[in-house]
Order: sequence, then C-alpha cells, then structure tokens
Amino acid sequence: MQTLPLFAKLEHRRTVVVGGGTVATRRVEQLLRAKAQVVVVAPEIDPLLVDWAASDRIETIEAPFSAEQLDGCWIAVAATSDDAVNRAVAEAAEARQILCNVVDQPELCSFIMPAIIDRDPMTIAISSNGRSPVLARWIKGLIEQTVPQRIGALAALAGRWRDRVKAALPDLDERRRFWEQTLTGDVADFSYAGRDDDAEEALDAALERWLGREAAGTRHTGQAYLVGAGPGDPELLTLRGRKLLARADTVLYDRLVNPEILDFARRDAELICVGKSAGRLSIKQAQINRLLVNLVGKGKHVCRLKGGDPMIFGRVGEELEALTAAGLPFQIVPGVSAVEGCAAYAGIPLTLRDEAQAVLIATGHTSDHDAGDLSAFRKGQTLALYMGVAHFATIAERLLELGHSGKTPVAIVENGTTREQRIVRTDLRHLDSAGAEHEIVSPALLLIGDTVRYADRYGWFNPRLVRHGLDDDSAQAAS
Ligand code: SAH
Repeated sequence: MQTLPLFAKLEHRRTVVVGGGTVATRRVEQLLRAKAQVVVVAPEIDPLLVDWAASDRIETIEAPFSAEQLDGCWIAVAATSDDAVNRAVAEAAEARQILCNVVDQPELCSFIMPAIIDRDPMTIAISSNGRSPVLARWIKGLIEQTVPQRIGALAALAGRWRDRVKAALPDLDERRRFWEQTLTGDVADFSYAGRDDDAEEALDAALERWLGREAAGTRHTGQAYLVGAGPGDPELLTLRGRKLLARADTVLYDRLVNPEILDFARRDAELICVGKSAGRLSIKQAQINRLLVNLVGKGKHVCRLKGGDPMIFGRVGEELEALTAAGLPFQIVPGVSAVEGCAAYAGIPLTLRDEAQAVLIATGHTSDHDAGDLSAFRKGQTLALYMGVAHFATIAERLLELGHSGKTPVAIVENGTTREQRIVRTDLRHLDSAGAEHEIVSPALLLIGDTVRYADRYGWFNPRLVRHGLDDDSAQAAS
C-alpha cells in the first residue's frame, strides 16, 4: 500500500489553495463540501472565487505565493499551472509538516485527493495513487451502480440507534449479527424507498423481536458455511460464497485456497489454516471435524472454505456428518471444481458432439496410496483425474492395459486458472516422462481423452503450453 487512506475532519480548519483558476476552483469546492475554512492565494483569481469571497464562503489573498501564507494551516493544495510555484508550495508545506496536494503531480504530493462517492454519512474514497485517475473513476462508476443512492440515510439511521443497540446487545458478535440481519432486511428496503419513519419503526420492532427471542431462551446458534473457493483465480468464487465469507466470525481454510480470497473475510475474523497436503502430515480430518463442531456449537458463524467444489474430493462428507450428528445448521455453496476451471482455462471441451459424451471424475490417488480403479473409463469419454501427480506411471500403464491407445491425448494442467498455470500436452505413452521431465508438482489435474487435443487450438489463458513426445501430425489433429 503506497498511502494510508484517512478521512480528515476539516470543519473550521484553515486550508490554503494556491491557484485561482478552474482546477483550483474544483478543489475549493471539495474542501467547502467538507466545511473547511478555505484561503485562496493567487495573483489573479477567477470571478467565481471572487464571488465566493464576497459572500464570505472563502477568503482570498490576491498576491503571488509566499511560504508564510501556509503558517497555521492544516493542509495545502497547489493548483497552479506553474511548475516552480507548485514545487515551492510543496517544499514550504514539507518544511512546516503540513500535508500538501499538488494537482497532477503525484511525486510532489504528501496526500492525495481521491475520487469520492458521497452518500453522507457514507463516504467512499478511491485512489490509484496518481497512476491512473481514469481507472479510479471507472471503479467509482462501478461502485456508484452497486451502492444504493440512499445508503446514506440507512447509515444515518444506524448511527442514531448505535448506542441504544449497544446497550441492549452488549455482546459484540451478537450485535454485529443483529445489524447484519437488520440492515439488509425491511429496514433497508424502507430506507431506500425514502420511508424513513417506517424504517425507524421496523428497526425498533426488529430489536424487540431479537430481545424477545433471547428472553424465550432460543439462543442465536452458529452456523457452518461449507463454501467452494474455486480452483485458484479469486474471481471464480461465487457471489454467495463471497457474501458468506464476509459474514463469518471464523474461517477454516484449506491450503489450496488462494490467499487473495481470504481478503474477502472480515478484518477481525479469525483465519485458521487447516490445510492438508499430499504426503505431508498436518492437521487430521478428525481434528477439523471437531474444531468445526466446537466453533459452531459456541454460536460462531464458521466459513469452511475449500479449494474447488466442496462436494468433489473435499472430504466434505465427514464434516457434514459431524455437523448433522451434533444437530448444527449448515449451508453448502458450490465452487468451480478443478475439472471445470482447468478445462475452461486450457480451452478443452469436456464433452463434444460426436467425440465425448461423458465426463468421468476420478481420483488418481486412493487412500491406500494407489492410482485407483480406472476401468470405468471408455473411449468417447473425458477422464479427469485429481491428485494423480505421484502416480503418472501407474495411471498410464493401467489405461494401456485396459486397451486405450498410446496416442490418447493427455493434458497435465498444473496450477490451473492461476497466473502460474502450466499445461503439458502429451499422450498416454509419454505421460510418465512428461511428468518427470517437466517436474510437475501438485496441484495438477490430468485430462485424458480425444477432446484434450483442442487445448492446442483453443488455449487462451496464459498459453504456456509445452508439447511433450507428440508427433507433428497430432499437433494439426485438432484443426
Ligand atoms: N475440491 C477440489 C478438489 C480437492 S482434491 C475441487 O473440486 O477442485 C485436490 C486436487 O484437486 C489436486 O491434487 C489437484 O488434482 C486438483 N486441483 C485443485 N486445484 C487445482 C488447480 N488450480 N489446478 C490443477 N489441479 C487442481
């Protein structure tokens, strides 16, 4: 992070804007919106600013800039078209330890004036730290579309009730859940519809209901969210997964979960890595089950974040059983599984008219450290093998024994959907040597079957495709 975003209270605080043109005027406007006391310094001052001075909205000094004009001010803005003057303002401010903004010269700035979305009291500031104001404005547009116009009214209402709710619900976790539930329900709907009195009444009723439930002895229980985090690219997380992740008190995540996804968790959420990795002993499944049950039993909302889809090779069955046996509530949110992510990002259709009519999802590594039974695989199918990295030789041998051609196309997709994605295109005969020569490491997925050769043609994402042991004619086969 290059700068720390701060929200400055400038009411009645002296600020100096050096420059009297249109750029300066825009800055003055922003400062006035924050109720700052503004002094404009310039030898020539725009008529609009002169008007504002006449009506006492600002003060003007019609003179060239000199350093002592900054004495006693809190922040300074240099908005002239003269480089030397801008630099002089920045230096004078620095010497006085006053924060200074120089328009369009980020290298001279000690603070930045961000793009602002003003839904008072809700304020959103966006900055590219001077690198690309256009991108910052684009993001502002995106946020403006998604943040309701009247969110400010809702925030103001919550602000008015803050102390009362705090007194009624002293427990922090409970209070947060109350607000989360209330500020997304009918209170918000009334508020956005401009029905402030109804919103206030609905909030009053919601608090009564909440307290009533407490008195009747129905404790607010916790809940587990079993969420698929997708195969790697953080943007493949579902909207629902993201929402629940942002609500959780505790996050139990697997080693395969991209750390960038954890940024969606609350800042004060407890993040616990319960990662298991092939061959390395870490926390045992039974311990994870126990931890999950304990936390949810204590009333926590726990997001159990798993790589890919939780229902595919995620050992979710054991966790669901533990929660069910303990009578605890849960929700399951699907994720993009490695097979879907890798196929899409490698350009491999999993089914294709006339070529592949079924997809077989299997493990290349069973609990007794074997390559597993692959006899169900037929021509006309695509085989997706998870966790097969340690068993390439056995996998190839078994499939050849079952009568599959040595030329059956194979793609090894390593770190699929991430910036490190690597694809080795080979065939069954060369699978073992491909794995060794290209030093394939986990996580990697094997895709086997006729449609795999389309990776050569449709690969679009980070196309680092390495060919291994293939004749030239098979390179053309897809076209
Ligand atoms: N629940 C997960 C699978 C967990 S098993 C899912 O639905 O994807 C772990 C295996 O998934 C890894 O050994 C690897 O075979 C596969 N895998 C997970 N992420 C992957 C990725 N980004 N690229 C390739 N394979 C991946």
